[in-house]
Amino acid sequence: MPNSTCPVSYPASSSSSIKEYQAIQHKIAEMGSAVEAARSLTYRAASASDRGDDDAMKLASMAKQFASVRAVEVADEAVQVHGGPGYVEDNLVEKYYRDARITKIYEGTNEIQKNIIARELL
Ligand SMILES: Cc1cc2nc3c(=O)[nH]c(=O)nc-3n(C[C@H](O)[C@H](O)[C@H](O)COP(=O)(O)OP(=O)(O)OC[C@H]3O[C@@H](n4cnc5c(N)ncnc54)[C@H](O)[C@@H]3O)c2cc1C
Repeated sequence: MPNSTCPVSYPASSSSSIKEYQAIQHKIAEMGSAVEAARSLTYRAASASDRGDDDAMKLASMAKQFASVRAVEVADEAVQVHGGPGYVEDNLVEKYYRDARITKIYEGTNEIQKNIIARELL
């Protein structure tokens, strides 16, 4: 995610902003938690790699697989939160969704990452 802060302050109606809705706040809470969990695992993998730990490869594959899935989920929720405008091309949110989606494919697809994780665990 380029930025974990979501600018959800435009009005849903003339009298309120969508960030005032508890359902939206819960989405933002889950999205922020997912980003932090992915970031923590990524830092853990980077730290293991820096130290040359035996489990560095396993952790790197876990981080790549976990973070890419969270990225797609969070970007998908961001599109939902923005409603119709989140889907159209002149809104950055749809670009974030496309940018997130490819991370499950390149630099080793998630299926291959899972093969590596399973091999390292079993
Ligand atoms: C925008 C973009 C940028 C890219 N940039 C680069 C780059 O800079 N450098 C580079 O080298 N490549 C790059 N690629 C290529 C990318 O790394 C490959 O697309 C990726 O490795 C998947 O290979 P593939 O497309 O041949 O799919 P395939 O290998 O044909 O896989 C198709 C599907 O089958 C699954 N699959 C394949 N083998 C197995 C298996 N053994 N077990 C379980 N499932 C399996 C895959 O997980 C996937 O879901 C880029 C691709 C895109 C779309």
